[in-house]
Amino acid sequence: MSSIELKNLVKKYGDGFPAVNDVSLDIADGEFMILVGPSGCGKSTLLRMIVGLEDITSGDLLIGDKRVNDLAPRDRHLAMVFQNYALYPHLTVFDNIAFPLRLSKGKHTEEEIKAKVHDAAGMLELEEHLDRKPANLSGGQRQRVAMGRAIVRDADAFLFDEPLSNLDAKLRGQMRTEIARMQRRLGVTTVYVTHDQTEAMTLGDRVAVLKKGILQQCASPRELYDQP
Ligand code: ADP
Ligand code: ADP
Repeated sequence: MSSIELKNLVKKYGDGFPAVNDVSLDIADGEFMILVGPSGCGKSTLLRMIVGLEDITSGDLLIGDKRVNDLAPRDRHLAMVFQNYALYPHLTVFDNIAFPLRLSKGKHTEEEIKAKVHDAAGMLELEEHLDRKPANLSGGQRQRVAMGRAIVRDADAFLFDEPLSNLDAKLRGQMRTEIARMQRRLGVTTVYVTHDQTEAMTLGDRVAVLKKGILQQCASPRELYDQP
């Protein structure tokens, strides 16, 4: 587990207006930080910079006490859950969740992999579905598999990019509860991008509001949404 510190982060694509413009934000160890703002305000770019999928134009990114600007994604020990889940259709649920462990060759024995996958599946109530393929799962179950693949890596932080946006309202509510429970149980630092005010209110310790790449404010949901 780790804190994440953004210091004057800037991202420019070409010569245009910066997509992320001098953003500074301290995310505490174990904190659940929500990123909100209109489409195009730079939320995904910021998340991708943190996970290492996007170069940083200027500024510093610290995970724990370590500057990670130039670290490869695999060396940042973060787990990102994407909007479209990106599951492997030909692999079972078990093998989808085990995939990141098998990627780091030789690091885990088959025994360890089995134990870790069963742990993650237990937490996400996927144990009965481990032999199934993604095509035979509901949307909510697929989303859980995507989360399983993230938590199985023992990451120092989770990054979520609108993970519930493809689900219907009922499932969204259920998954929201599960994410909240899982985050509390694991106590993992989390950065979560959403459009949904209910998600921001119920999940976030704090909510950071972005507009045109600029951080407008960062406050608890109560301060932000319960203003008289
Ligand atoms: P959000 O996630 O809040 O919708 P994005 O981070 O996707 O916003 O985009 C922020 C800005 O950066 C937008 O103006 C978008 O057009 C631009 N942008 C995003 N990705 C690229 C890219 N690969 N090349 C050029 N411009 C990009
Ligand atoms: P490889 O470099 O072995 O081909 P990938 O290209 O899939 O593997 O990923 C490169 C590195 O990026 C991985 O070793 C992993 O640490 C990291 N990575 C991949 N997917 C994610 C993810 N969803 N969240 C966080 N890090 C990831």
